[in-house]
Amino acid sequence: MSEKKDIRALTKTELREFFVSEGDKAFRGNQVYEWLWSKSAHSFEDMTNISLETRKMLEDNFVINHIKVDHMQRSSDGTVKNAVKLHDGLIVESVLIPTESRTTACVSSQVGCSLDCNFCATARLKKMRNLNPDEIFDQVAAINQESLLYYNHKLSNIVFMGMGEPLMNYNNVLKAIEKITSPEGLGISPRRITVSTSGLPKMIKKLADDEVKFNLAVSLHSAIDEVRSEIMPFSKAFPLKDLKESLEYWYAKTESRVTYEYVVWKGINDSKEAINALVKFCKYIPCKVNLIEYNPIDDGDFQQANQQAISDYISILEMNDIIVNVRRSRGKDIDAACGQLANKKS
Ligand code: SF4
Repeated sequence: MSEKKDIRALTKTELREFFVSEGDKAFRGNQVYEWLWSKSAHSFEDMTNISLETRKMLEDNFVINHIKVDHMQRSSDGTVKNAVKLHDGLIVESVLIPTESRTTACVSSQVGCSLDCNFCATARLKKMRNLNPDEIFDQVAAINQESLLYYNHKLSNIVFMGMGEPLMNYNNVLKAIEKITSPEGLGISPRRITVSTSGLPKMIKKLADDEVKFNLAVSLHSAIDEVRSEIMPFSKAFPLKDLKESLEYWYAKTESRVTYEYVVWKGINDSKEAINALVKFCKYIPCKVNLIEYNPIDDGDFQQANQQAISDYISILEMNDIIVNVRRSRGKDIDAACGQLANKKS
C-alpha cells in the first residue's frame, strides 16, 4: 500500500492544480489552504465549508501530519511547556513565556541536537532528525492558541532557542518562518522573530545573502577562543575571528543589530579578562548583550556566577555604551528554562 502524502507539503499553487485535475475549481485549493494554514485544521473533518464528498476524496488521497501536544506543564510563574509528539512518535519541546507586555514562544528546530554545548541538556539527546517546516509551524500555532486561552492575547514574539541548532536545519526553518509571517499563515512580523544560533559563520553569511528580515542572536558565552571551545567544543572548528567576520558581513548586508546571548558561570567566564574580551567583541558591529540566568542541569560543572560578577559585567558593558539586559530565568520548576529542554516529564 502506498503511503499517503502529507497535504501540507503542497504549495498553494499545487493544491489549486490538484483540484483542477480532479475536475473541481482552483478556488477550492485556496479554501483548503486557508484551513490548513490560517485555521490550523487538524483533520479534513474540520473543513466545514468543504462538501462531505470533497473531504472524503481528500481523506482518500492525503493525510494531515499535525503535531499533537502530548503533555503540557504550567509553571508557577505562568510559563507553559509543551511536549509535542510528531507523526513518527518522536517528541520535541516548546515553551510559552508570558510577561506583562508580551508572550513569547520558544520553539525547537531539531529532535535533539548534533552540537555538543557542555552546559545544555538537549546536547545529551543525540540528534535524531530535523523538523520539517510544518512541525515548526505547528509548535508556534499551538502556543498561539495557548496564549489566547491563558492570556487572552495572541502570541507576540518567537525565538528559535528550543532544541536544536536552527541553522543546521536552514531550509526548513526559513520555510516555516515564511508561513509564520505570511498573512495566509499567522501573519506575525519577522521583526518579532529571533533565530538564535550557536554561531556557524558560513550559515550566518547565508542568512545575510538571503536578506532575511528576522533578528539574529548568537550564543556567545565567551569572547576568548580557548574558553569558548571548552564550553562549546564544536566551536574549535569556528574560531572567533571567523564568527566576527561573518557578523560584520551580516551587518553590512542587513544593518540589523545582533544580540549576543551570554551566561556567566563561576570560574569559567567571570573574570575581568572575560569581560574585557566581550567588550572588545561587542565593538565590531552594533549589538546588545543578553545576560541569561543559568539553570544548572544535573551535574555541578556549570554554576551560575555570583551577583558581583554579573554586576561587573553590567557596569563595564554600560560604561562602554553597550546595551545589556539581564534575562531572568522562567519555568525553572518545569525544566522549561534555557538549556533545560531534554524531554523530561516531571
Ligand atoms: S545550546 Fe543549542 S546548539 Fe548547543 S547543544 Fe544545546 S540545543 Fe544544541
